[in-house]
Amino acid sequence: MGGSSVSSSMTIQSHKGPYDVHFREEALELLNNQMFDNVHFIIDEKVAGLYADSLSNVVNSPSVLMLEATEDTKTLDKFTGYIEHLVSKGIRRDHTLVAIGGGVIQDTTCFLAATLLRGVRWTFYPTTLLSQADSCIGSKSSINVGQTKNIVGTFTPPNEVYVSTRFLDTLSEPDIRSGVGEILKVHAIAGQEAFAEISQAYSALFSERPEMIKAIHRALEIKKAYIEKDEFDRGPRNIFNYGHSFGHAIEAATEFAIPHGIAVTIGMDMANFVSRSLNFGRQDVFDQMHPTLQENYRGFERTAVPMDGFVNAILKDKKNTGSQQLTLILPDKSGALAKTIIPNDDSFQSACEEYLTSARLS
Ligand code: NAD
Repeated sequence: MGGSSVSSSMTIQSHKGPYDVHFREEALELLNNQMFDNVHFIIDEKVAGLYADSLSNVVNSPSVLMLEATEDTKTLDKFTGYIEHLVSKGIRRDHTLVAIGGGVIQDTTCFLAATLLRGVRWTFYPTTLLSQADSCIGSKSSINVGQTKNIVGTFTPPNEVYVSTRFLDTLSEPDIRSGVGEILKVHAIAGQEAFAEISQAYSALFSERPEMIKAIHRALEIKKAYIEKDEFDRGPRNIFNYGHSFGHAIEAATEFAIPHGIAVTIGMDMANFVSRSLNFGRQDVFDQMHPTLQENYRGFERTAVPMDGFVNAILKDKKNTGSQQLTLILPDKSGALAKTIIPNDDSFQSACEEYLTSARLS
């Protein structure tokens, strides 16, 4: 692996015991040459097609569930079919589910592993940057019910994770920038110094693989400290919602025209702007972070975000406590991120409008 300061594995402590994240560029080849006793694969069908040669033994193994990575795939009523498939393949409590894909495959497999036979082992090969640098650790899984997204879930970590950045070769640039958005968020959580460092490395992330591996490793290291303290997201881990309340509302108001991690990038910029407009945060925090954040949402700075849709969506955020009170993660006067409750009043709405109509572009 490139990047000499990067170790090849990381152990995460969880309520189910420790599990390891292995950084192995040749993970696919190692997997493909294993014996497949008592193993059931759940694979993103696009990834199976793109990596058909490297995964030839895997896709021809006795138990393979090939799924399209769409929100429909992780909807509750689809699980009857998945369970019937696994039962027909003789699943037992000492078997292992192996997930190969991004967040959709992760959430689907995790939910199955948590509930089938009251719990089976599962291993994860994340194939998107978002899943490699963020979601592969932390235990969360959520699935959709009807039209309600991520409403049912469990905290069930994988037993092992294998990260190979070779998968990133086939992702589109917006997909990479979407994952980079989460990497930027995690570095911002670690503080202004860590954000300055990742800003300096920003261009190299796209052209130099060792820099990307280093950034993924660092992002997981930062997240590890929080999830080991607050795995069930009742306290310090809440800070990972930075950029998310704004980002989710932007996604909803634009009918998902903006990829998730890019909406989160806009959401962080907006949080910094609104915070300083309401005199809760500081101008210099917005000024320092704006150039990198803007570079990461390039191409989406002019996507119209209707204010009505935005306000309706942010009021529905599940982190809010009252119908007109918003629970947001904002930078405070010290520059640190803090959980803050603010009213949905004229000052808040005009700061949001000013950001969406002018500050985002300048
Ligand atoms: P995804 O699984 O939605 O996949 C996005 C697209 O990329 C799909 O078309 C997929 O086929 C394709 N793809 C995957 N790997 C590829 C590769 N190597 N090359 C080319 N194409 C590839 O991607 P995601 O962004 O990782 O996941 C989003 C989902 O994850 C959402 O459902 C979200 O709710 C969930 N999520 C879960 C967590 C968690 O902690 N459990 C965290 C964040 C997001």
